[in-house]
Amino acid sequence: MAVPILAYHQIAVPPSGKAPFRSMVVHPEAFRRQMEWLKRLGIKGLSLREALPYIAGEKAGKVAAITFDDSYLNVYENALPVLQEFGFTATNFVVANQIGGSNVWDVPLGVAPAACMSVEQLRRWSSFGHEIGSHTLDHVHLPQLSQTEARRQISDSRGLLENLLGVDVSSFCFPYGDETQVDRKLTYEAGYSAATTTKRGRARPQDDLFGLPRATVRRNDSWLHFVRKCVFG
Ligand SMILES: [Zn+2]
Repeated sequence: MAVPILAYHQIAVPPSGKAPFRSMVVHPEAFRRQMEWLKRLGIKGLSLREALPYIAGEKAGKVAAITFDDSYLNVYENALPVLQEFGFTATNFVVANQIGGSNVWDVPLGVAPAACMSVEQLRRWSSFGHEIGSHTLDHVHLPQLSQTEARRQISDSRGLLENLLGVDVSSFCFPYGDETQVDRKLTYEAGYSAATTTKRGRARPQDDLFGLPRATVRRNDSWLHFVRKCVFG
């Protein structure tokens, strides 16, 4: 069965007007309603790590992977309590050099600064059974880098997160969905089990585990959009 991998960024009251990438900010109430929809549809929300056996076809059941890119503090504040309430788990893709920092990579694009989770918040996140994944050291465009630097971004971010948080880091997310076959290979060689892109669709057993498609949830998605992403991808 195909598994939707939902991709969220910020969970907060969206900025007004024409702020760049405003569509990537999902209102906390919309997020809660979306989790309610999953429950009503009999779909269990799981971290990518826990959803992998379903994606690979080794386990059967109605599940959706829930992923958050960039490790925003507002995900900790607004999404974590909802996940706890529904008994769901999720994956947080952390930019390793911005723990306790902010989305500095977005600022040149005109996006408002937003804080990232601190070490303590990440520890608490994983203490509830949620997954920590890597989103490189610096939120880079991997295909634009030398292979040595790309390898460092992919591999060192894993080591840094594992040492700092004392957890296994087995999931990776390509920043901007930007990747080549070389980057997929480097991710495999660095010891990860899976990597996600921004290609659209639901994940199926025949998919490359290092190039998994996802469904981005946007600010103005209606319930129908959302359900369609979950059920039909
Ligand atoms: Zn990102």
